Amino acid sequence: MIAVLKSSATKEQIEKLIAWLKSKKLAVHLSEGEFCTILGLVGDTSQIDIGLVEGLDIVASVKRISEPFKRANRKFHPDDSVIDICGLKIGGSDFQIMAGPCSVESKEQILGIAKSVHASGASILRGGAFKPRTSPYDFQGLRADGIELLLEAKKQTGMPIVSEIMNANHLPMFEQVDIIQVGARSMQNFEMLKELGMTKKPILLKRGFSNTLQELLMSAEYIMAGGNNNVILCERGIRTFETCTRNTLDISAVPMLRELSHLPVVVDPSHASGIARLVKPMAMAAVAAGAHGLMIEVHNDPQSALCDGAQSLTPEQFSETAERIRKVREAVAA
Ligand code: PEP
Ligand code: MN
Repeated sequence: MIAVLKSSATKEQIEKLIAWLKSKKLAVHLSEGEFCTILGLVGDTSQIDIGLVEGLDIVASVKRISEPFKRANRKFHPDDSVIDICGLKIGGSDFQIMAGPCSVESKEQILGIAKSVHASGASILRGGAFKPRTSPYDFQGLRADGIELLLEAKKQTGMPIVSEIMNANHLPMFEQVDIIQVGARSMQNFEMLKELGMTKKPILLKRGFSNTLQELLMSAEYIMAGGNNNVILCERGIRTFETCTRNTLDISAVPMLRELSHLPVVVDPSHASGIARLVKPMAMAAVAAGAHGLMIEVHNDPQSALCDGAQSLTPEQFSETAERIRKVREAVAA
């Protein structure tokens, strides 16, 4: 961390600040120039409140040199992390497609979709049982019954399942869920992240729609700090001034997250665009940019879906998309 001091700072004030920083177990390198004084702070600066230092009268600016996330940081873990999901691997050169409905609606619906997406290339079944809806009057999910139906689909197809948790008290219901999804709206539910950190479950951590990549990585850090390193990052679009699409897919998040972190990066082109016909091109772009996986919403009858029908692919559209994704992967690998 570097602190640039104002030229008006007196020797006495500077010494006082240095003594305080040293009391925080930091080594301080003083560099006195003609117009300003710079303090280089070396050590564990993560315990320093940057705002507190910035707010001091004698400080002009403060800049962190090393990132505050350690466990998720590629600097301390140069190789890609590969996460095992019931024998399937994601990360490094291993790629997986998660597909299924936004919400589990009925036994026929989830079984039918599971079988068709499995046949056309999806390896993990998605399905929301607990739905974070903007309106309390909208369908809230089948809750525990939805998890039971996902488990039935897992039994019949052999596909691992991924489903969203909204409350840490629900963890017992997720015992047999293979990947626990933390939705965009919960990305900074720090108490829940801490609880998930105490499990060994793979966690799919979605980026909040107004969160920076550093904030996403700090949320991953919450889970990892508890001892759970099985975190998969998910870019699902962010809120911008654009209104033609539901969100704006931040494709640059893929190479940037891969640069900053060793964790696998998945893209959700469905929530990112909100429009079914954009899912295929966005999925192809994500794969070309280096995503380790995709999460795609598929519904047997999108027009009657209880949630997110407009962005859901039919099984046929999913099959075509999966085929295109295979081609892009081959082209990128060549
Ligand atoms: C979902 O995956 O159905 C979902 C609600 O996603 P997000 O949290 O990204 O909005
Ligand atoms: Mn959805």
